[in-house]
Amino acid sequence: MDGDSSSVLLLNSTFEPLTIINVRRALKLLFTKKAHPVEDSPYYLSTVKAKIRIPSVIQILYYVKRPYSRPKFSKKSVFLRDNYQCQYCGKYTNKPTLDHVIPRSKNGTNDWHNVVTACPDCNNKKGNRTLKEAGMTLVKPPSEPKHMIYSTILTPANIKRWEKYFYHKEKIQKALTSLSSATV
Ligand SMILES: [Zn+2]
Repeated sequence: MDGDSSSVLLLNSTFEPLTIINVRRALKLLFTKKAHPVEDSPYYLSTVKAKIRIPSVIQILYYVKRPYSRPKFSKKSVFLRDNYQCQYCGKYTNKPTLDHVIPRSKNGTNDWHNVVTACPDCNNKKGNRTLKEAGMTLVKPPSEPKHMIYSTILTPANIKRWEKYFYHKEKIQKALTSLSSATV
């Protein structure tokens, strides 16, 4: 099972991921009608009176303003931007490495636009070559992320579990639609 039952992804009213909260706080937001469920987890919480389904993702009903700050370029933030997914073979990796798309020896820059996450195999395979020389392609062109959750509990497993919420708004709409039709 990916992820765990103790953390819940909180989305802003605009569907943008805000932060990760614990189950107690998530249930409180739901019970006080400050948020509504988007996706359930397979887990239940048993109380004396009832068996409560633990949510996996909830959406806050009012807009939470966040000051805009440009994400800092660092090794960890590149891994987070890429969801710990190797940008060459597409596999999720627990042993991420940084790779310069245009090698530093060929004047490649050390910034958001030239640095990607690579698994050790792909990093070795590419070596000190350009994409063309290595005959490799990128999953997506690297760019500066617009928003990012920095959290120590944002593990590769959690990122995989909630991947769709980080980049694809239309998938959340779909999840909401199927949720409301299922509860009718
Ligand atoms: Zn790879």
